Formats: sequence, C-alpha cells, structure tokens
Amino acid sequence: MKYIDEFRDGKLARGLAQAIRAEAKPERRYNFMEFCGGHTHAISRYGIEGLLPPNLLMIHGPGCPVCVLPIGRVDSAIDLALHRDVTLCTYGDVMRVPASGQMSLMKAKARGADVRMVYSTLDALRIARDEPGREVVFFAIGFETTTPPTAVAIKQAHAQGLANFSVFCNHVLTPAAIANILESPEVRKLGTVPLDGFVGPAHVSTVIGSQPYEFFAEEYQKPVVIAGFEPLDVMQAILMLVRQVNEGRAEVENEFSRAVTPEGNEKAKALVAEVFELRRSFEWRGLGEVPYSALRIKEAYRAFDAEIRFDLGYHAVADAKGCECGAILRGVKRPEDCKLFGTVCTPENPIGSCMVSSEGACAAHYTYGRFDDRAARKAG
Ligand code: SF4
Repeated sequence: MKYIDEFRDGKLARGLAQAIRAEAKPERRYNFMEFCGGHTHAISRYGIEGLLPPNLLMIHGPGCPVCVLPIGRVDSAIDLALHRDVTLCTYGDVMRVPASGQMSLMKAKARGADVRMVYSTLDALRIARDEPGREVVFFAIGFETTTPPTAVAIKQAHAQGLANFSVFCNHVLTPAAIANILESPEVRKLGTVPLDGFVGPAHVSTVIGSQPYEFFAEEYQKPVVIAGFEPLDVMQAILMLVRQVNEGRAEVENEFSRAVTPEGNEKAKALVAEVFELRRSFEWRGLGEVPYSALRIKEAYRAFDAEIRFDLGYHAVADAKGCECGAILRGVKRPEDCKLFGTVCTPENPIGSCMVSSEGACAAHYTYGRFDDRAARKAG
C-alpha cells in the first residue's frame, strides 16, 4: 500500500539498524523515551529493540490515552452509567479499563447500565438526537488528537439545541506531561529515569505542530525527534536522536514531515480554543496531579459539561495492589518487572490500564511476546 509499504521495508530497516549501531558510541549510554503508545506498539510489533545496540535503551512514556486515565475518573463514569440513569457513550478500549472494586464500564453494562461503544463523537450525538427522552453523556478521553472531534460534537449539540447531550471531559495535554516527567518534584520523588531525548508523538503533532516541543529542547537541553508510527519512521528518529546526542545538539527535528508542520492544524487548534480552557490541575495515572495538563469545557458551552450537569465530584483512588502501571508510565519500570504480568494480568483479564489498549506498554509486550521466560513459564 502506497505510503505504508515504503516505511516497512526490511532492507532499509537493516541499513538503518546498521547505521544506528555504527554511530552509537560504545562508551556511553543512550536513554530515549518514546512518548506515544503508538510508538511503543511499533517497537514491540516490529522487534525494533532487537536491532538496537545494547547501550541504547527505549523507555515507554505516558502517551497511551487509556493508560493515563486515573481510576477515579473511570469510577465517576461508572457512577453515571449505573446510578444516574444516563446512556454513557465512549470509545471501545475505555470500556475495559479496570476501576475500583474490580469494576469496569463493561461490567457495569453487564449489570444493566446503558453503556454504548461508539466510533466517533458524532455517533453519541446521533444517539442523543434519536432518543430525546434519555440523557446521553459522551465520556471523552485522549490527547490533542481526539480533542477536536469532541469540540465539534459540543458545537453541533449547541447549534442543534440538543438539551439531553453532555460531555464528561477528560482530555489531556502532551507538553504538560513531558514537562512533568522532566521536572516535577513529585515524579522525581516517585522515581524517574535519566533521559537523553524523546521520540515525539505522531498524531498529536499533526494537530499541535512541532513548535510546542521547542521549549523542552531549549529549556531542558533534550533533543526531540517527531516520528511517524511505521517501523522505519521510528528507526530513522532513533538515528537522528543518536546523532543529536553525539553532536551535543538539543533541537526539535521532524522525521514525520509528510504529516506534521511547525504550526500544526490551525483550524483544529482554533476549534479547541473556542470550546475548551485549561484546568488548574488534573490527576494522571502514574504522574499524579499535573498542573495545567488537561482541558475543561468553557463557560459559553457549560450547559454541555456533564461534570456540572450531574454535579460530579472527584476522588483519587490508588491502583490495584501489585499493579506497576504508575511506574511503567513514568518509564521507571518495564512490564516484565510487574509480578502480575502475563500471569494474573493478561489482555483478557487486565488488572491495570496498561494491559487494556493495544497502545499500552503491557499489552504491547504481551501481544508480541517481548516478555521474559520467567513470565512465560509462569503463564504456561
Ligand atoms: S502487567 Fe497488569 S498489573 Fe502489571 S503493570 Fe501491567 S497492567 Fe498493571
């Protein structure tokens, strides 16, 4: 397929691997964080780690939207669905995220709650139009990529006077999370890893552009290379990071220039700015409370804010006992460090959020067999 096959070419991959091994200096270590779950998935699926030199480590970041959703927010959504007589619409993966008391939206549905999987925000709008007697809430999650469609739904609901539609907004922001990993005293206290550079997000960057990362490159002297999700994209980005480190540069480079511009998508950004504003603070799984890291609905569209309509409070809830999702999302641990990985916790029976979505580090390692023999033997 045009624009896919070229970026999965084995011969070119071998050439890139050779170049990375030749240019990585044996006397130093290279620790790079791939922020996005999509990159984690590509690295696991295509066995990229096996092609890298032993002194170059790829570390998972917190860029999987389902994984960073804290239990307290899923609890609120379950409360809406089970006890407030609403129709709760959300994306498929969200329905399986474990919440308090071994509950999930899927289990709430099994108990009779009206929880519906949708493919887009417009499906939720259609349900609200078709069933005017029901309160329909869209449980919105995700990074900058999924925020513009939520803004479109709110604007359309406003234009159409859909009084039975609202949004439970949990949209989060990538640059705030990167800054938190690099500087937050809380994250440092909980543990973090020395990082030499970032593979920057692909889809998020098509919306926000490459400019927002310039701050990290300058302020923290960390190179950022924005990369697409195909294996050659990721390998090319790793080579570009190795070169920046070797040359003492800390710049933003754009490997994904076929889709990302410096400014990003101005129309999408304007739409988001019209409907949303910054929250003072938001809890992330793994990172804790991160200042100005998430969005809420602006005053002009407050009528569509489910948190206000249903007076939703928020209670922070600790992760399940033994689950290492928090440490994995900070890059401190790897999935196979978790005692539950591949034994108690599998994609069929996820204990933590990192095992739910294909973008989650635990699910990616499990699915593509990149876990150690110890876990495999226990699983067997
Ligand atoms: S394997 Fe399961 S329990 Fe362990 S960190 Fe991953 S999601 Fe959590």
